[in-house]
Amino acid sequence: MKTLNDFNFKDKKVLIRVDFNVPQDKDLKVTDTTRIESAKPTILKVLEDGGSVILMTHLGRPKGKKVGEMSLKHIADKVSDVIGVVVEVADDVVGEDAKEKAKNLKPGGVLMLENLRFREEEEQGEENFAKQLAELGDFYINDAFGTAHREHASTAVIAKYFKDKCFGYLMQKELEAIDKVLKNSDSPVTAILGGAKVSSKITVIDNILPAVDNLIIGGGMAYTFIKAQGGNIGNSIVEEDKTDLALKILKKAEEENVKVYLPIDIVVADDFNNGADSKVVKSNEIPDGWQGLDVGPETLEKLSKVIEESKTILWNGPVGVFEFENFAKGTKAIADAIENATKNGAFSLVGGGDSVAAVKQFNYEDKVSYVSTGGGAMLESLEGKKLPGVAAMEN
Ligand code: AMP
Repeated sequence: MKTLNDFNFKDKKVLIRVDFNVPQDKDLKVTDTTRIESAKPTILKVLEDGGSVILMTHLGRPKGKKVGEMSLKHIADKVSDVIGVVVEVADDVVGEDAKEKAKNLKPGGVLMLENLRFREEEEQGEENFAKQLAELGDFYINDAFGTAHREHASTAVIAKYFKDKCFGYLMQKELEAIDKVLKNSDSPVTAILGGAKVSSKITVIDNILPAVDNLIIGGGMAYTFIKAQGGNIGNSIVEEDKTDLALKILKKAEEENVKVYLPIDIVVADDFNNGADSKVVKSNEIPDGWQGLDVGPETLEKLSKVIEESKTILWNGPVGVFEFENFAKGTKAIADAIENATKNGAFSLVGGGDSVAAVKQFNYEDKVSYVSTGGGAMLESLEGKKLPGVAAMEN
């Protein structure tokens, strides 16, 4: 499939689906520009070639209605600042104003259509709406990784109306990162899975087992495994109905020659808050009235070694309640070990869920190889699902 660099966009009107679903404060000011910055290289490539850009994005969940606070007019100044070009916003999505502004767009110009989700046809993936969007431009680029797991008009259905189309740089980087971990990886490959529940990660574990050498299980979901093996987990978070599943996963891992690392020791607390009393106990001897909130020092020493000896690392989910400073040590130590491995040439991907929040909170973004911008889309990729936004481009 052709990539962005295979094309020259001189005099082309290029429709780019971006994911500018950015966080805003109560005055509707944008509080984090990561998503805009991530799409900037793609936008600049088109403009520098001498083309013009029509940006398409959703913002929030207006559910097919025109909701004033969710107008893209509130984010236009920020988008203009970040990309360094004044962005004009149409009054509608595919109405008269959008058509008129798209028609009059000159090379070097940037137009943003109104919030795609002001039209219910967007999420319905309605054909005629997708066609109307397509008629506004003459080339389609999908750079919205964060929305690639949705089969919407602007992310998937629209692609068939274009002979000329490709992924943007961001999409390309995200897809390459997943590939580098699950397909073209250097061994040893280590996956670190944490987070609250086994049930939300089970398909991920199942899909990645054939691709990894080591599987580290931490966070809340570790207690379901420890309980399944007969350990005492006190008041720790557990999914009682998933203990059989946990044992099945361990058996499958053994069959696939995957080494599984569960916590050996645990930092337990007498309450679920940062100020709770805490102590370190063996992971299978958690006393009643106490709950595990982080992995212990012995575990960290062992895990750091496994991670530092890895050549490919995937990290999904914190190994403790990192939001509480007193129980963030484990998650920080994992980040440190990944940083060291990366310095030694390993490829490290952090994505899907709260590990991205942890990496940002501790300022590790530049210390790992790649931090994914798409939670759900990354998770579904790791689950082995073909993303509709990707499949549509390949047809
Ligand atoms: P996820 O969205 O599945 O990645 O889950 C992330 C959440 O799991 C974070 O908010 C963590 O605080 C939480 N978590 C991690 N370890 C534990 C634990 N031992 N007990 C309760 N929650 C945990």
